[in-house]
Amino acid sequence: MLLVHGYSGAYDKVTRRVADYLRSRSGAVPKPLFGEWKEEQPPAEAQVVKPSEQVIEVLKRRGYLTQMTHAEEEAFFSKVAGKLHQMSVNTMPSYIFMPTYQCNLRCPYCFQDHMRTNPAFRHLLRIMQPEMVDRIFAALPRIEAGHGIQPGSQQARNITFFGGEPLLSESRPLIEYVMRKARELGRANFSAISNATELDAYTDLLGPEHISHIQITLDGPQREHDQRRIYPDGSGSFERIARNITLALERGTKIGVRVNVDKNNVHQLPELAEEFHRRGWEGHPGFSAYAAPINASNGKTDENSILGSWLLTKTLGEMRDQNPRMNRFGGPDDGLREKVRRIFERHENPLPSFRTEFCGAHNRMYIFDAFGDMYACWERTGDPKIRIGNIQEDGNVLTSKTQTDLWRTRTVTSNPVCRQCRFAFYCGGGCAILAEAQNGELHSNHCDGFSKRFRASAAEAYAAHASGAESVGNSDRVCDL
Ligand code: SF4
Ligand code: SF4
Repeated sequence: MLLVHGYSGAYDKVTRRVADYLRSRSGAVPKPLFGEWKEEQPPAEAQVVKPSEQVIEVLKRRGYLTQMTHAEEEAFFSKVAGKLHQMSVNTMPSYIFMPTYQCNLRCPYCFQDHMRTNPAFRHLLRIMQPEMVDRIFAALPRIEAGHGIQPGSQQARNITFFGGEPLLSESRPLIEYVMRKARELGRANFSAISNATELDAYTDLLGPEHISHIQITLDGPQREHDQRRIYPDGSGSFERIARNITLALERGTKIGVRVNVDKNNVHQLPELAEEFHRRGWEGHPGFSAYAAPINASNGKTDENSILGSWLLTKTLGEMRDQNPRMNRFGGPDDGLREKVRRIFERHENPLPSFRTEFCGAHNRMYIFDAFGDMYACWERTGDPKIRIGNIQEDGNVLTSKTQTDLWRTRTVTSNPVCRQCRFAFYCGGGCAILAEAQNGELHSNHCDGFSKRFRASAAEAYAAHASGAESVGNSDRVCDL
């Protein structure tokens, strides 16, 4: 059996006898992942064989046995989490530029749909002006100072373009200007989340030295996609996007295709995998694709059709067994599985990948819109009431303490459920937006089947490592939604 320590980073393969002994000390009865234990669990005290003193000493040293009380251990865990969180804050921030909230498509499920259909939000649709870019770049050193970054630091800045649709042809001068300003300040990497319908207007800005990575959404094979990702006149966008994916790959830009799936369309993934093959993307080193579960965060999703990450992981596993082409499709837990596999194969220290927060919204992600408003989370943009700050004309940053505290203090210790969870440092507490939709509070847990997913991933990673099988899928995800 594999022991994984929740906060020390220790992992150890032990005999069932040692595991039974530990279980008998903890009082907690972990359930098996599939089926039932063959014997009653935990075994009666009389049946437990105490390991040798030497083994007990190792179990103590590795943290599986402790003298701490529950309260003391919780306090210790919080202290460790506080330190790790501070370390994650004290690194170069990541920046998201939103040139506009405007978009040329009218996908019925879009969380920003009201901005284009309700005249009350029309003012949001303008494009960022170069003066605003100047202001933002004047503010960056001040923002970075708050993260312990020295002026003149040689660290590269990661800049992502997001919208609305950030790569509309009319936004091109602005995008070029942002790239120029970023390079004047130092090294910079550029990526985008785009619908890719107008990517051909950016041909010379694509490539490893320019916009090096783009996440593009397809909603299934052409007939399905063209029902959902539509232009205002109802026509579909698949063919244009597909042509532009080929173009971007030829230019050397990496493409990550995201497919949002629920129970209604998950069965179409193999057909889409065939399409990837037909278009010559399947074997391209710059191409990857992953399936992401559609979540009920915007009131436009039928809750009964939701798959959830655990069910999607299992469904993808079955599909991969039946159709080798599906191996190119990543799923929600590939990253986790690969991380565990690296631990087995290279004895990589798991500590650096511990997460006290789920995503950049809670430590160092800054999203700037055309008005100089600054947000923490992709899903919460466009409403000045929840901005974490605003960039003033002179480049000064005016912060909202209430909103900044709300977003930047959400960690696995800021709610009592995650604080006592054995998976906390591997999970990070789940997406805040989904937690709020589920529990009415941002500072609450969104488990998304994590305990099952963690145990399955660890078991699969070990089995793959033992059999020498190749890795499948990829973990190229930007945000949970
Ligand atoms: S994962 Fe959730 S909280 Fe984080 S940026 Fe995405 S929507 Fe926001
Ligand atoms: S969200 Fe759930 S699984 Fe994740 S740390 Fe919190 S309690 Fe644990």
